Amino acid sequence: MLVCKSNAHRSELPFCDASFHRTAFDRADSRARAFSRAAARRAHHDVIELAAHPLAGYIVGGRALDDNNAKPRPEPTMPTLYPLRFEPLLRRYLWGGRRLESRLGKTLPPGDDYAESWEVVDHGDDQSVVRAGPLAGTTLHALVQEAGSALLGRHDPLPQFPLLFKFLDAHRNLSVQVHPNDQQAALQIPPDLGKTEAWVVLHAEPGSTIFAGLKRGFDRNALAREVDRGTTELCLHALQPRVGDCLFIPAGTVHALGAGLVVAEIQQASDTTFRIFDWNRVDADGRPRQLHLDQALDVINFEHGPVSLQQPVPTDRTCVERLVECDKFILDRWDFTRSEIVGSLAKTPPGIGGDDRCHLIAVLAGTLKIADDPLDAPLEAGETCLLPAACGEQSVQVTDQTVLLDIFLP
Ligand SMILES: [Zn+2]
Repeated sequence: MLVCKSNAHRSELPFCDASFHRTAFDRADSRARAFSRAAARRAHHDVIELAAHPLAGYIVGGRALDDNNAKPRPEPTMPTLYPLRFEPLLRRYLWGGRRLESRLGKTLPPGDDYAESWEVVDHGDDQSVVRAGPLAGTTLHALVQEAGSALLGRHDPLPQFPLLFKFLDAHRNLSVQVHPNDQQAALQIPPDLGKTEAWVVLHAEPGSTIFAGLKRGFDRNALAREVDRGTTELCLHALQPRVGDCLFIPAGTVHALGAGLVVAEIQQASDTTFRIFDWNRVDADGRPRQLHLDQALDVINFEHGPVSLQQPVPTDRTCVERLVECDKFILDRWDFTRSEIVGSLAKTPPGIGGDDRCHLIAVLAGTLKIADDPLDAPLEAGETCLLPAACGEQSVQVTDQTVLLDIFLP
């Protein structure tokens, strides 16, 4: 006999995993449903307890009942994890270009509007798929569900991989926009995560601009007035970034990437954007893209003010500096080109990982060879890899030109 202890469903159910989970989660959201299936399978649960949880809405715990009907279930058969490379998902938007190819070495089909390359994503139907090795063809979501502890280490279980990493080519300005925080995004239909993000500038045409935060003194009414007049830009704090600069954009911050920039972006795995102003553009069919001013005004943090560049903080490893540390992610840069270490550290670089968590590694320059990578070729600039927690500390080979981003959960 299985017993469901959720508040919504206090009843005894026949011994059948599939119908039990379907019944118990009919009214829950899809992330909670998927999460429960995976957690129950991993733990061989017979008792499922549900409780409110800030990430998924529900969390699963339990123990096996001593029941004559209970049959042992087979162990999950997920192969041992290794450094994972995924197929990038290309996104075409009207502001894109071809620099994902010319600057980052992506192979692009014909067309001049390639805007984003999603390198690591687990968000609904948008799924990174493993490219090589015994797990080739597996989605990131399946890994989170079925190999959660090996992938996520101390952060297991999670309902989805909580971060999304992408490269962007802003051939034209992106819309002026804002993203909700977790609490606000949870009220969306369907519910989403909030979106706190950070950018590292990889290429900047002379004079290209980032708009980040509101100038001081612009409150809700003042912003609404300028949007109405078509003079939104007057409200925006603007800066001209250089290659290597990093900006941190917490949820609730008005922002836009300007034309001429290529950036790496780490963000929460969310796709909820409220557009405030789209530079009076129309799409290929002559229609303006939808704006969401009221929703935007409701989620903007009017206290936040102008955003300035992040100041990198040294760490106890000479080649590593911390660009961002927040409650959603930590962003470190490994730089073997710095004059004080050039040559020496590249010959004996420190290992990556080994702290019981998953690391997202993106190569920005030079190359990186990770010991257990099943592909024989090193990662090149513009390539990304997910290092599962179970891989432990991996020795790496780098060159004097190598610059990496190392992203992980706090
Ligand atoms: Zn954004």
